[in-house]
Amino acid sequence: MTQPTDQRMEYARVAVARGIDHAPDGLTYRVPDGLDPVTLGDCVTVPLGRGNSPVGGVIVALGGSELLDGKVRATSIKALMSVDRTTAPMPGIVVRLAQWISSYYCAPIGVTIASMTPTAVRKGIGRVHSQAVDLAPVQPAVKKLHPNRQAILERIARWPASERPVDVDALRDACTLATRAPILALVKSGHLTVVARSSVQAKWRATVLTAGSAPVLTPQQRAVVDSIDASRNSGFSQHLVHGVTGAGKTEVYLNLARNVLESGRSVLFLVPEISLTPQTGGRIAARFPSYPMAILHSGLTAAQRHEQWIVASRPGAKIVIGARSAVFAPVGDEELGLIIVDEEHDQSYKQDQAPRYNGRDVAIRRAQLAKCPIVMGSATPSMESWFNATTKGIATLHRLPDRAPGLRTPRVEIVDFRRESMLKKDRRVHLVGPTLETALRQCFDRAGQAVVLLNRRGYANWIACPDQGCGWNMRCDHCEAGMVVHHAAAGERLATFTRCHHCQTEQKVPIRCPRCAKSVVIFGLGTQRVEEELDRLFPDLSAHGRIARVDGDTMRHASEFHETLERFGRGDIRLLLGTQMIAKGLDFPNVQVVGVISADTALNLPDFRASERTFQLVSQVSGRCGRSDHAGRAIIQTFEPTAEPILAAARHDYVGFARAEISVRQRYGLPPSHRLTRIIVRHTHPNTAEQIAHDLHRAILALDGARDAVVRDPTPCAIARIADRWRFQIELLASTPAKMQSLLAAARSRELFHNGELIAVDVDPVALL
Ligand SMILES: [Zn+2]
Ligand SMILES: [Zn+2]
Repeated sequence: MTQPTDQRMEYARVAVARGIDHAPDGLTYRVPDGLDPVTLGDCVTVPLGRGNSPVGGVIVALGGSELLDGKVRATSIKALMSVDRTTAPMPGIVVRLAQWISSYYCAPIGVTIASMTPTAVRKGIGRVHSQAVDLAPVQPAVKKLHPNRQAILERIARWPASERPVDVDALRDACTLATRAPILALVKSGHLTVVARSSVQAKWRATVLTAGSAPVLTPQQRAVVDSIDASRNSGFSQHLVHGVTGAGKTEVYLNLARNVLESGRSVLFLVPEISLTPQTGGRIAARFPSYPMAILHSGLTAAQRHEQWIVASRPGAKIVIGARSAVFAPVGDEELGLIIVDEEHDQSYKQDQAPRYNGRDVAIRRAQLAKCPIVMGSATPSMESWFNATTKGIATLHRLPDRAPGLRTPRVEIVDFRRESMLKKDRRVHLVGPTLETALRQCFDRAGQAVVLLNRRGYANWIACPDQGCGWNMRCDHCEAGMVVHHAAAGERLATFTRCHHCQTEQKVPIRCPRCAKSVVIFGLGTQRVEEELDRLFPDLSAHGRIARVDGDTMRHASEFHETLERFGRGDIRLLLGTQMIAKGLDFPNVQVVGVISADTALNLPDFRASERTFQLVSQVSGRCGRSDHAGRAIIQTFEPTAEPILAAARHDYVGFARAEISVRQRYGLPPSHRLTRIIVRHTHPNTAEQIAHDLHRAILALDGARDAVVRDPTPCAIARIADRWRFQIELLASTPAKMQSLLAAARSRELFHNGELIAVDVDPVALL
């Protein structure tokens, strides 16, 4: 794919963001004579369609006639229109990554490329165009110049050479001129030359925390660093660090990163979106003050994002930190020395629209292309990564079985919710049982802080008729799903409404059953209801604003989440209540109690990963306490106290859980032992959706690779309708990635998936609703 320099490239394949359905691999154009030399990754403008309307795109391949697919005559190929030199070309590795993603995840190349570069970069948001002037090398022979104009020329001559050419406005101010006109007149008369400039300026820096001295590594941490470091110069290698919560994985990452930076290469550090707190960036910036850091962060403005992207693209050793899409950061081809993927099990690495890629798996591919090590870490590794490390031997396993010095392993107590509810005699529904309530009281008496988790937004998720014979419950008009009651603070008055969590439709809460006119009842769980109960239990904390709720309803913007965490860090907030946003990566030493309102929210999902998710959630949230010499206590309320994932999490037994879970998956031919692809057909008419699914199923069965795979019959999805579109799924299972890929390639070459509106292909899905 590298471009031979001695041969002229006749044709370029261009990924365009429009008109993509019929050109999944890009469109071929002629490189006209007289155009600047082009390279892979260049941004270009091309003519598209009958009207030849100019459209932006990126060159994904260069070559000779092999780029013509045979059907087209060379003479009918259109020519590139222009090359955009204001945007840095995509590094070659990133272009090859795009081709891999497009093929592996069955997504058109145009859509793939478009999703890899932030909109702010593509649209040049924040780019400032300015003009600068300097003395013309040859001054025109003019007898007499107006003294004012002469003064301008003298002023510019005194300007420090390093700061020339001089910005027009800066010169105007320096000469105390009212307008730019005299300067522009000097340009016209030939005394000054003008230089166009463009730059992105958005002053943003991570809050640098007090540096402090780096802690001395424990022997366990040191052994992991040394072992991974030893493989640094031998090309690609894949490492999984399994460290219990609080084992100090970040210290391991930072030590590895320092060694790479000192060798003159760059580090790409991926974290789940929600872990991108000011804490994370500040901690890293403090550790490496002499290296540039780019942080790609959802809390940044578009211009700031653009600026950070440019920082990442500058040559030289640097650290680039960001969520999923930072895996595409424009770090030069030869420059990347290490990729780190923290909390590799996190679902937020998977993109839920085309291209449906998993950032962790793309990072592995990028490390392969860059020939550098990749380090993935987690306290609860995904079954995929664990299987790769223990059964397949693809990744090297490193273990940090003990918490860092000074941290105690939290005591995890399982509480049977049915028995707990009966203990309260006031006939009210309680979500905080007596065990958790007592633990919280004791914690606050000791001036401790607490975290309470419920992985469900809203007030209550069940609105129904009390008459079981009637059986009515409130469903969304547009989805096969129940409506959720929400309270919203509208001015002073509390408004109550219902919302669908799938299509966001809102409706009033009915007072009477529409079928039998009995008064409806509202029950079920939601963070707002827990908040209401906690306010009642701890009125003093509530009155002083020391209880905060963190979920998708209260935290509309990343900055709100960051601000709340800072207040929690300062101790202004004593009790943090929220959804899984608060289950991950938070490190606050004063947290003494963690409560899980219901460990059952994930357990009963119709998804083969339900056990894995439950184990991860309980383990991760329990790990938020005991981060100092306080004994941490995690209280897990559940209706299923004997469920194995909950018991295993309470025993801190990841290895035992993973062994049992993988053997179940193997028995049913599910990931990680097999590869799964899920195809979803969506249509506004249920019969049409079903018919298309059956036609597609038949067409897939007729493909060459179908005998090497399991092609399951079409079935309605677990949520059979979302936003008025009926949904059917076809699951494909294959014993190896190669078999899966050859089946998908055959389907693609028959254009079976070409209508992206109708058919969504999800390779290696992480959620099955
Ligand atoms: Zn809905
Ligand atoms: Zn009824």
